[in-house]
Amino acid sequence: MGLMTETLTSDRRPGLRFLESEPLDVLVIGGGIVGSSVARDAAMRGLRIGLIEQRDFAFGTSGRSSRLLHGGIRYLAQGRIGLVREASVEKTLLHRIALHLAAPLPFVFPTYRHNRAWKLWQLMIGVKLYDLLCGGRNLGASSWHDAEDTQRLVPGLAADGLKGAVRYFDGFTNDARLVLDSLRSAAAHGAVVLNRVRFVNARRDQLWQCTVEDTHAGRTLEIQARTVVNATGPWAHGLPHSAVKLRLTKGIHLVVEHARLPVTDTVVMTEGTRILFAIPWGARTILGTTDTDYNGPPENVRTDAADIAYVLAIANQHFPAAHLAEADVISTWAGLRPLIADPKGRPSDISRNHEIKSPEPDWWDVAGGKLTTCRLMAEQTLDKLTRAANLRALPCSTADEPLLADPGFSALVPPPFSAEAVRHYCEQEWALHLDDVMIRRAGWHYYERDPAALAALAAEIMAGCLGWSPEEKQRELAAYLAHPS
Ligand SMILES: Cc1cc2nc3c(=O)[nH]c(=O)nc-3n(C[C@H](O)[C@H](O)[C@H](O)COP(=O)(O)OP(=O)(O)OC[C@H]3O[C@@H](n4cnc5c(N)ncnc54)[C@H](O)[C@@H]3O)c2cc1C
Repeated sequence: MGLMTETLTSDRRPGLRFLESEPLDVLVIGGGIVGSSVARDAAMRGLRIGLIEQRDFAFGTSGRSSRLLHGGIRYLAQGRIGLVREASVEKTLLHRIALHLAAPLPFVFPTYRHNRAWKLWQLMIGVKLYDLLCGGRNLGASSWHDAEDTQRLVPGLAADGLKGAVRYFDGFTNDARLVLDSLRSAAAHGAVVLNRVRFVNARRDQLWQCTVEDTHAGRTLEIQARTVVNATGPWAHGLPHSAVKLRLTKGIHLVVEHARLPVTDTVVMTEGTRILFAIPWGARTILGTTDTDYNGPPENVRTDAADIAYVLAIANQHFPAAHLAEADVISTWAGLRPLIADPKGRPSDISRNHEIKSPEPDWWDVAGGKLTTCRLMAEQTLDKLTRAANLRALPCSTADEPLLADPGFSALVPPPFSAEAVRHYCEQEWALHLDDVMIRRAGWHYYERDPAALAALAAEIMAGCLGWSPEEKQRELAAYLAHPS
């Protein structure tokens, strides 16, 4: 079962042999939070499991989110109690099983006379209900504050028309690290996971015969699997055999120095019915997000100047003395929400629910949802899949066993730069390229003032670990420096 060995992840040969040898019980396509959670659950149930990712783990939406573990307080206003309860329970559960990647995060939600979409008395009832929906065990207790008190809580907050605020708790995570530690946990239970392997097509006889391409080695291989899970997020509707219908919307985030916007609690900033956040992140503050329809190829999603101007304008309305400008922006990221399309096509009706469907025997499309509900999505998928395929499996145990944790290399803020960390990412976490380390494993790309200087050092160390020639090292550096934020 699997490769429970001391093999370095930089040696891909044993993993490829495993995938090509006997049939898998489950082949997972996609190394985002959904695929990695499915892989962990399946491996813990004792199944023979492989996961393939076309680029890098957390390359898609799961490395470009707002990093919140949340019940979704704004869905309360829409009366979606079931959705909020489900996510609220999962939020507290993730806090239990991934303590190093789930910190309680207080939110201050101020209301203003000039924005009637958000009424203080309604929010006051809402936050108490929100606490109850976690089974009374939210990550902290909510409270109410008058205008004076609110200004003490959030120095610099616009005072004009301020009525007061509610304060409530959600969780803060590190999305890409959550993916990677789920994969490491899956691998520790015998799953084989490989990046830079792209699903091309499949046909079904007794088993699914899948053609995949190892883009790292430039080679095509065949994998046999009893069942296949399509967990390709924003790519899901383009995959052969998929019956998923998605509507993609883009959301971007900006990172600024914490000193430029020194919030200690996350501040909810409103624009009509929309809400944006200013989230404290160590020495930085994260600002976001937007929500605009997107129709291009998922891999081309970018932050553009209009996105930046919009988010800065909302932040400056709420913090008029900050005078944030484009020059304050240290880094940005842009992601795509893989929302289940509403047949009637009304944007306000787009479901935030997830869907698990089997359009063909033993092919499972898993789409929608959010980071917060990934464990539950995986549990429900495996329950359905094992029953339908009559696979013998252990019961689900993902709610009880903690994720593998290596807090020196995996935390809410990036670790200090070190050769040891770079080596760890190459040898234990499947890093193959410079951006794998800089962007997703360490996160220095988004956090550091001068990531290019660190990238040069990291490239030197990676060249030693992965046997790059001087030309390859230069190519890696050039590719990293050309990375669009
Ligand atoms: C702006 C924004 C903010 C968000 N904020 C939050 C938040 O704060 N909290 C929260 O809970 N949720 C949040 N979400 C939602 C959450 O991030 C997503 O629901 C979740 O990350 C989707 O994960 P996924 O695994 O389905 O997709 P992805 O993470 O996109 O993973 C799919 C993977 O499949 C791979 N793939 C595609 N095609 C192939 C192929 N042919 N072969 C192999 N691999 C393939 C891709 O490369 C990709 O890595 C946010 C989303 C956005 C866009």
